[in-house]
Amino acid sequence: MVSKIKVGVLGATGMVGQNYLRLLSGHPWFDVAYLAASPNSAGKKYADAVAGRWHMKDDIPAEFKNIVVGDASKVDKAVGKCRLVFSAVEMDKKQILAIEEEYAAKGLAVVSNNSAHRGTADVPVMVPEINDRHLDIIPEQRKKRGWKQGLLVVKPNCSIQSYMIPMYALIKAGYPIDKMILATLQAVSGAGYPGPASIDLIDNVLPSLASEEDKSEVEPLKILGRVEGGKIVADDSIKISAHCSRVPVSDGHIACCSIKFAGKKPAMDEVISIWRNFTALPQEMKLPSAPVPPIIYRDEPDRPQPGKDRDAGNGMAITVGRLRPCNVFDYRFVGLHHNTVRGAAGGAILTAELLMAKGFLK
Ligand code: NAP
Repeated sequence: MVSKIKVGVLGATGMVGQNYLRLLSGHPWFDVAYLAASPNSAGKKYADAVAGRWHMKDDIPAEFKNIVVGDASKVDKAVGKCRLVFSAVEMDKKQILAIEEEYAAKGLAVVSNNSAHRGTADVPVMVPEINDRHLDIIPEQRKKRGWKQGLLVVKPNCSIQSYMIPMYALIKAGYPIDKMILATLQAVSGAGYPGPASIDLIDNVLPSLASEEDKSEVEPLKILGRVEGGKIVADDSIKISAHCSRVPVSDGHIACCSIKFAGKKPAMDEVISIWRNFTALPQEMKLPSAPVPPIIYRDEPDRPQPGKDRDAGNGMAITVGRLRPCNVFDYRFVGLHHNTVRGAAGGAILTAELLMAKGFLK
């Protein structure tokens, strides 16, 4: 029996923050003891702070309604209340860099959804099924920064999970990938609330910002990299080219991918078998949020679809389909994941479970 630890959610009133509360209600390892957001919400009871903008299908979990929201930039208010904070604030990047380091310096573990620290050399960008070994850098991170109990890890951009996990399964099975071209169709919830104006989005497809494409190309290389000399060194042997668009879908990001292997290519039935049999440390450790199986391959020619597949494995599984030969590269396929669950709050909770199971939250 695991003894529970107290956690906080920064940005608790936002799109990702609300998903945290939905997923953390009744969590077997974590008790939510602190909620924070902007100065506009600070001082209000949570239910009042989100009145008129609660976007989850179920009601606000009763245990959170009366918690008085703090100001996320007043770090001292969280100290002593929780051991770990999930960070999902929409703030200026420099401010995020500073406050996340301040939380860690004051002894808290920080698991962040923000992009600010993804390029920081000693900060792991975690997809727990892929790079659990990157947590080995934490003792060096603490030593270098003078943090005793604090630590800082981040989640990648919400667009990459649908292709990273299937791609990694193939690499792990002995089929390294040379290059990949992908086009993402990203749901509206990925832009936070209120997101793009409805008049821009209805009957339309919006080009995503160039930064979304950069993240989709660069972050996978760090995730596939190695810990060396107190840094995470990116694996730049893979070349990725991404086109990202925002589509009028509520939740669920799709990636249409073409891949070329670096050496021999597996047969198509072997690729499907690799995906169906893929398992990793979170499944072996039976972490509470680990989906079993992590990859679901659908044979039907009309899957995956956001409306039908985004909630697979409680929103944590990657659904893959439409594997077929590619006229330019070796194969093409379509991947789908729930962007605010696997791509945001759920992926961060799984990372926190991994930190706990590996003993970093003592
Ligand atoms: P959102 O819906 O716009 O929510 C933003 C949150 O940040 C709210 O809780 C807001 O509080 C808080 N905030 C705004 N200004 C603040 C300030 N000055 N000080 C403290 N808190 C402040 O955004 P979101 O979609 O949840 O995204 C949050 C973060 O996660 C962003 O960095 C985003 O890039 C990242 N992310 C989002 C997704 C996704 O799928 N949506 C996926 C991965 C990562 P108030 O309500 O009080 O204004």
